Amino acid sequence: MNTVISFLIAARHQNKVKSVLWIVCFLALLSGSAWFILRELHVSMDAEVARVMQTYTRVRTNVISTLDIMDQQLTADPCSADYAAQQRRVAFLPDGMNELFFFESGKIICTANNGLLPKPIDLGEPDILPANGFTVTLWLNRNLEDLGLGGLKGAFAVRGNHGMVVPTTPVEATASKWLQFEVVIRAHDGRWWHASGEPGLYAASITEPDGPMGLREGALTTIQCDPAGLHCIAARTTIGQLLGLGGAVAALSLIVCGIVSAWLSSKFYALLARHWSFESRFLRRFQSRGVTCAYQPLLDLEKDLVTGCEVLARWHDVDGTLIYPDRFIPIVEEHGLTQPFTRLIVERAHAELLPLVPLGKRMQVNFNIFPRDLDASVLLDIFAPFLGSASRFDLTIEIVETGALDLETAQGEIERLRDAGVHIYIDDFGAGYSSMHTLAGLSVDGVKLDRSFAMAPDESVMARMLDHAIDMVQDSGRKIVVEGVETAARLGELKASGKVHFAQGYYISRPLDREAFARFIAERGPRPSARPRLVA
Ligand code: C2E
Ligand code: CA
Ligand code: CA
Repeated sequence: MNTVISFLIAARHQNKVKSVLWIVCFLALLSGSAWFILRELHVSMDAEVARVMQTYTRVRTNVISTLDIMDQQLTADPCSADYAAQQRRVAFLPDGMNELFFFESGKIICTANNGLLPKPIDLGEPDILPANGFTVTLWLNRNLEDLGLGGLKGAFAVRGNHGMVVPTTPVEATASKWLQFEVVIRAHDGRWWHASGEPGLYAASITEPDGPMGLREGALTTIQCDPAGLHCIAARTTIGQLLGLGGAVAALSLIVCGIVSAWLSSKFYALLARHWSFESRFLRRFQSRGVTCAYQPLLDLEKDLVTGCEVLARWHDVDGTLIYPDRFIPIVEEHGLTQPFTRLIVERAHAELLPLVPLGKRMQVNFNIFPRDLDASVLLDIFAPFLGSASRFDLTIEIVETGALDLETAQGEIERLRDAGVHIYIDDFGAGYSSMHTLAGLSVDGVKLDRSFAMAPDESVMARMLDHAIDMVQDSGRKIVVEGVETAARLGELKASGKVHFAQGYYISRPLDREAFARFIAERGPRPSARPRLVA
C-alpha cells in the first residue's frame, strides 16, 4: 500500500499516473460500451428470430386449420370421386397446403392430385408423435417421388385419416443481412432434424457454453423455440460480420472513447491530486497519526549542563518521509488549526518528557506558539498538563513578534501568563519585526537571538552584530538564549562572554526523538539528586 501511495504522491510519476488512468478509463468505457452494444444486439437478434419464427408458426397453424377443414368438409366416401372433388376444393384454399391425402393403417391411400394410388404408400414409423398441444404426427424429409414430385422433399403431416404434404419452408427467404439462422424440428424426446438454414448452428448453440458478455468464439448466438417446442431457430452473428457492416461506427466509437477517456482521466487525476496533495494528506492525518515531537537540547552555559529543550514539531508523511515545520505550519495557520495543533504537541511532549526528568530536578521546556494564539486563558488551558506538573517543569513559551502584534494587548496577556508561572521568551530576536521597541514594551523573561547571528561566518557583519545584540539584551535585564550554534569556536566565545545563559544549536545537538533525547539528557543533563534518607 505504501509503495502505491509513494508512487501516487511523487511528482515525477505524474505522467505515468495520468497514462494509467487514461488506459483504465479507456478500457472501462470500451468494455462498458461493448457490453451495452452486445446487449442491444442480443435484443435485436431475439426480435429478428421472433420475426423469422412467425413463418414457421404460420406453417403449423395452416397445417392444423387445413386438417380442421378436411375433418369438416371431406364428408364423401374416402377416395371416391366426390371425395376427390372435396379434397381439391380444400387444397385450393390459399394456405400453401396443396397435396392432401387420405390415410389409413399407416398408408396413404389416395391424394387430391393423384387420386387413388395404384399402390398405397407405406410411411413407416413416424418421426414425431403428437405432443405439447400439437396434435399432428409427422414424417420428415421424405422423398415425394411416389406422389409424382420427383426430386422434391417434404414432410407428411397426419391427424386421424387426414393428412397433407408440407413443403419445406426455407429460412433464407426471410433472413436478415447480419444474421445466420438454422431452423430445426424437434421431437419431444429431444431428437432433432435440420430443417433449413446453416447446418451446425443449432448444434453449436446448444453444446458450447456462453463466454464473457454472451460471446462464443467471437460470435453472438441465440436460440428460440415455439411454445409447442417443435420448431427451434438458432441465430448467430460474428464480430467480424458486425465490423464489416459497421466498421466506420466502430472506429468512431473508439475515437469517442479515447476523447471521453482523456476528459474523464483528467478529472480523476485532478481528484486524485487533490486527495493526495500535501495539504490534504496532512489535514487528513495530523490529528490521529503522523505528528511527533523533536527535542533540541538547551545547554545551560553556567552549569555546562543540558537542563532543558525546545519542542519542535515533525510530521511523518503517509510514506514515512519526515516533514519539517516550514511545510506544514502554514497549512495549520491557514486552516485555523493552530490551537488543536499546539494542544496535540503539548500533550505528546508532556507524555514523553515526564519520565525523563531526573529525580529531584526540573526540566525547562520551551514551546513555540502561534502569535495569533497569544491569549492567556487559551494558553493556560492548552498548557495545563505542564502547569499541573509545575514541580517537574519550567514551562517557557516562545513568541515570534509579527506586525500584527499589538504591544499593549500582548503585554496584558504576558503578565497573566507569567502570573500563572509561565516564562515568556521573544523568539528570533533581531529578525523580522522584532525590535528594541518590543523588547522595551514587553515584560518577557528572556530573548532568543535569531539563529542567523550565531550561524554567520566569523568576521561577517552579522557575527560582529552578535556581540552588540547580546549586550543590548543584557542591558534590558532579560535572559539570553543564542540559537544556531554550529561550531565549537562559537560556543567557546559565548561561554567566554559570560553574558549568555543558554545556547542551542547543531554543535550541541540536532533536534532528537524521544529515545535519543533520553540518552542525551542522561549523559549531559544534571545528575538525579540522591534519594533523601529515611530517618528511623
Ligand atoms: P524556531 O523556533 O526558530 O526553531 C529553531 C529552528 O532552528 C528549528 O527548525 C531547528 O531545527 C533549527 N536549528 C536549531 N539549531 C540549528 C543550527 O545550529 N543550525 C541551523 N541551521 N538550524 C538550527 P525547525 O525544527 O525546522 O523549525 C522551524 C520553525 O518552525 C521553528 O523555528 C518554529 O518557528 C516553527 N515550529 C516548530 N515546531 C513548532 C510548533 O510546535 N509550533 C509552532 N507554532 N511552531 C513551530
Ligand atoms: Ca523557537
Ligand atoms: Ca528561533
